[in-house]
Amino acid sequence: MARYIFITGGVVSSLGKGLASAALGALLQARGYSVRLRKLDPYLNVDPGTMSPFEHGEVFVTDDGAETDLDLGHYERFTGVAARATDSVSSGRIYSNVLEKERRGDYLGKTIQVIPHVTNEIKDFLHVGEDEVDFMLCEIGGTVGDIEGLPFFEAIRQFAQEQPRGQCIFMHLTLLPFIAASGELKTKPTQHSVKELRSIGIAPDLLVCRSEQEIPVKEREKLALFCNVRPEAVIAAMDLKSIYEAPLAYHREGLDQAVLDAFQISPAPKPDLRRWEDVYDRIFHAEGEVNIAIVGKYTQLEDAYKSIAEALTHGGMHNRVKVKAQWIDAEIFEREDPAPHLENFQAILVPGGFGERGTEGKIRAAQFARERGIPYLGICLGMQMAVIEAARNLASLEDAGSEEFDHEAGRKRFTPVVYHLKEWVQGDVKVARRVEDDKGGTMRLGSYTAILAEGSRVAGIYGTGEIHERHRHRYEVDIKYREKLESVGLRFSGVSPDGRLPEIVEYADHPWFIGVQFHPELKSKPFAPHPLFADFIRAAVEQSRLV
Ligand code: GLN
Repeated sequence: MARYIFITGGVVSSLGKGLASAALGALLQARGYSVRLRKLDPYLNVDPGTMSPFEHGEVFVTDDGAETDLDLGHYERFTGVAARATDSVSSGRIYSNVLEKERRGDYLGKTIQVIPHVTNEIKDFLHVGEDEVDFMLCEIGGTVGDIEGLPFFEAIRQFAQEQPRGQCIFMHLTLLPFIAASGELKTKPTQHSVKELRSIGIAPDLLVCRSEQEIPVKEREKLALFCNVRPEAVIAAMDLKSIYEAPLAYHREGLDQAVLDAFQISPAPKPDLRRWEDVYDRIFHAEGEVNIAIVGKYTQLEDAYKSIAEALTHGGMHNRVKVKAQWIDAEIFEREDPAPHLENFQAILVPGGFGERGTEGKIRAAQFARERGIPYLGICLGMQMAVIEAARNLASLEDAGSEEFDHEAGRKRFTPVVYHLKEWVQGDVKVARRVEDDKGGTMRLGSYTAILAEGSRVAGIYGTGEIHERHRHRYEVDIKYREKLESVGLRFSGVSPDGRLPEIVEYADHPWFIGVQFHPELKSKPFAPHPLFADFIRAAVEQSRLV
């Protein structure tokens, strides 16, 4: 059975709990252990699928089609372990399961209560896959003391109590504020936070303290004494220039050693950190830089496109260049000529998105990239817009558009080159959806196979004829326009195995123009950049040499 590490947070939110968990996962792997990371979110949404990217950042999609928290993206990027639907849960999901069981009569007439019914449901979730890995790292969202989080804290307390001694540890992340006037790091908020945790029966084994400065011995001892942990188990987490420094930085601070000590694993296996040393070297010894424009809608909040930003960085690391991504609001191009805005970029990326707002601007960005021979990567909606651009401007279908926008507007205005898909095949299973189905989970979600055309650019980039990529969309380019669009140069170079769903389009006579219906960014890792991103940045570097 796995050893469990529960990661909680205190004092303030946004301390980088997800990153600390991911980095610890990577360090345990470096010591030869297998790991799995999980996120338990106290909010009441059943999953983040319907939450606005403005509020909650990107929705991360797993191979098995779950819409999850973006922290699962961090976990995957640091450990390379593909997340599963069972690695993410929210209060909403837990309560919904409990209520469903209650309606079915599973509780045999009992009164349903937070303890034990809700906490049991959480514990069942924690047990899933316990025999598959050496370490299970479970991060609890929010901070200790949040009302919604209480059932989760209670459940992990019970869980640890029910396991053999030494099977579970608790790691608590806090903040040590620095008071400039007195030149001191303050430990009091951490003391209070640990007190809060202990009052609900959880005594942390490790403290990870975010701080702008090194933690002096005096403060470290004070924290150890007042919070009842060993001084070596007080780990400083200082601000880093790149998140990918985190595994090495935490290792220097002794995090992985402290964790193994807490489990009394001795002697501890030696770590092999070469993967992270190479990542560090590629980030901090880049030669040159490229400027990439990301033309999207959710430009105010970078987390809305977290995986894209990271995948671009990975592509840069592969080519040993720094990628400077600039987010541009697509709506600008509905009023203004894109040229002055886009001319100085070596490549243009149009990411995924929902709804009509900004789409005419994205179409103009795709047109600009096509006409000027600038590398273009269109992802999901970005592919659909590139296809509509080709239909309108090359194939004389002037009113080409997406049914998505007609549905939104409640009237028909476009020839649906992109239409609402209602039936498709996943593996051997037929899936059917109706327009009026609820918003949650009516999309083509998760991993699907695409067959790449021989001799196409993408087949060369992937180095294989069959790929598996993650999807999250309702609408689809209509295959019936294939011939028409191919006759004007837009090749359908990747299609679903049954040949019905276009997965990739590309122009053969363009330096680099690819649209993909899936989300390649979700599978990119710093130590294994996604081939499309690696080659997109290579094309951008080439473009920078042209001007
Ligand atoms: N809105 C489009 C669709 O549902 C694209 C979705 C996306 O870009 N993820 O098909």
